[in-house]
Amino acid sequence: MKILIIEDEYSLADAIAETLQKEKFGVNIITNGEDGENEALTNVYDLIILDVMLPNKDGFEILKNLRKEKIDTPIIMLTAKLEMTDKLNGLEHGADDYITKPFHMRELIARVKVILKRKTNIENTNVLEYSDLKLNLGTGKMSSNNTEIAINGKELDLLEILLLNRNQITSREILANKIWGYNSETEYNNVEVYVSFLRKKLKLLKSKVKIKAVRGIGYKLEEEND
Ligand code: CA
Repeated sequence: MKILIIEDEYSLADAIAETLQKEKFGVNIITNGEDGENEALTNVYDLIILDVMLPNKDGFEILKNLRKEKIDTPIIMLTAKLEMTDKLNGLEHGADDYITKPFHMRELIARVKVILKRKTNIENTNVLEYSDLKLNLGTGKMSSNNTEIAINGKELDLLEILLLNRNQITSREILANKIWGYNSETEYNNVEVYVSFLRKKLKLLKSKVKIKAVRGIGYKLEEEND
């Protein structure tokens, strides 16, 4: 689990980092608003601890921009002010929680854990399974035998559809339509290409699941026993 701390008070940022590291979290500290926002936009974190009063760009603005860019990483705001309007402002713009300075590290850790647990629960309810194969739609990871690979875009769409229809043959027309929006020979070839990508990944994961081609019709998942 990786946490980004955007906080301009060095001593506080260090104290938070140290506490989180003791709890086995990976941390990264950024001490100004603009760089903090860029970091949050370009790298993946499990949680962001975001101060309100920051040089260059304040925390509320960063929060708004991140949500606008569809970054849905949980965010805990750190506010030095006690005013209710600040808290409401943060929650309204999509913060998951706020904590008022000064605070006890114990309190911060407790909140971090609650939020990460909530996030994990949401992610885990979004898992499709077949035989030894799992696809987590929340994280975009396919896994088998304790190994996981991140997939995205069309590959993710394809595997999701195959898993949702695991008990039947899914026609290439349906696949082309759902993934590319229409069907034609070009899209049928695309389906074939993406099936071969997924087959390679299933092999890498040493999964028992195979994608069987049903000639002239479509595809179906099958479990191969030895
Ligand atoms: Ca500050």
